[in-house]
Amino acid sequence: MQNQLAGTEAVCFRCGATRALYGEVCAGCGFQPRDEGLLVAWLFSSDYLDGEQLKEAQQRIETGEQPSPGVQSLQVARRALGATLQTDPGLPLAQLLGLLVLSLLLTPLVSWVLWWHARLSQPRVAFQAFAIALPTSLLGLVVGLLLKLG
Ligand SMILES: [Zn+2]
Repeated sequence: MQNQLAGTEAVCFRCGATRALYGEVCAGCGFQPRDEGLLVAWLFSSDYLDGEQLKEAQQRIETGEQPSPGVQSLQVARRALGATLQTDPGLPLAQLLGLLVLSLLLTPLVSWVLWWHARLSQPRVAFQAFAIALPTSLLGLVVGLLLKLG
């Protein structure tokens, strides 16, 4: 358990649990950051902190310290994320499901391409595409390995 943060990219600022994406529902406490909370959540991700800092932050949160990022940090986050995270409505459910089905049945590459194109201008779409691309890619990898082994 010494490498708790290996492969993860964000720490829940409520409970210190690790997760792959800062905007995700926390598996530890069920908290999902929204609006201002997304800015704070981003500050506790590898987009902002390096691995060591993230580990330190995690330890502080786990000992009960409540994060209170300053105005400056929040501004950094706001600039990095852009007001667009709030204004970008993201993909409608039907398109999301379509993307999921395509990624599962055809190739997750579809989602990766969408993520790449949306990552600068449509952060919510990019986030959704990434959230589909990563697990479907891993699933494909696991299934591929199982087929090889079996
Ligand atoms: Zn949590």
